[in-house]
Amino acid sequence: MKSNKLGGRRAKVKEDIASKKTPPNLDVETLPDKKARSLKITSLFQARYGTPECPLTFRTVEQLAVAVILSAQCTDARVNQVTPALFDRFPDMVRLAEASLPELEKLIFSTGFYHNKAKNIQKLAQILARDYNAKNPKDFDVLVTLPGKGRKTANVIMSEGFGEAPGVTVDTHVKRVAFRLGFTQSENPTVVERDLMALYPKSVWRVLPLYLIFHGRETCHARKPQCGVCIIKELCPSAKLFLAESPASP
Ligand code: SF4
Repeated sequence: MKSNKLGGRRAKVKEDIASKKTPPNLDVETLPDKKARSLKITSLFQARYGTPECPLTFRTVEQLAVAVILSAQCTDARVNQVTPALFDRFPDMVRLAEASLPELEKLIFSTGFYHNKAKNIQKLAQILARDYNAKNPKDFDVLVTLPGKGRKTANVIMSEGFGEAPGVTVDTHVKRVAFRLGFTQSENPTVVERDLMALYPKSVWRVLPLYLIFHGRETCHARKPQCGVCIIKELCPSAKLFLAESPASP
């Protein structure tokens, strides 16, 4: 009876961690211990993923901005299938600003949400062509105000387009993996970003989200994390809970 209750509670906590309601219990971990753990984790990621490149294909920062808009709710592979024809037809912001919405929608249709994406791409191109000499400004505070942007997109453009990371890009994978690792207790991307920035030195702000994204896609899946084969399971406070419920999981 007692063990059933315990099993039920474990299952509930596991479910909560998976759905990001309850963070793993890290009450006993001090900040220096957490920082040391986080650095060990990045070392293992570095050994696994090396120095990762941006998975989106682009030739200019402006093309990157368009690709990032297209990547919302869409895989990078799909975006990379669509952008060659789009950028052949409209290679710069001046020509993209003059594109008709129906033609844009047709070119980006397979990335989903194409009505909104086409409008945002057209508006972005028009603003850049009119106010910024058809270039993306190298200014995070301006980038977050442009159509289709926000902190996530502005961070990607600054880090992958300009080689400077003023913050940490937070997407759904970053949020989930950071939560399971006990690096944040929040689901709010701005808070998650702040927590990661406090934990990690600036030198890793660019690669950290790429590591977490690759790890989230490869191993720490939303529904069924593969803790049994996870390269950082010894350093992850959620591993025991997931493994307790699925001991044979890969
Ligand atoms: S052990 Fe690995 S796969 Fe499992 S929750 Fe932790 S990071 Fe995710």
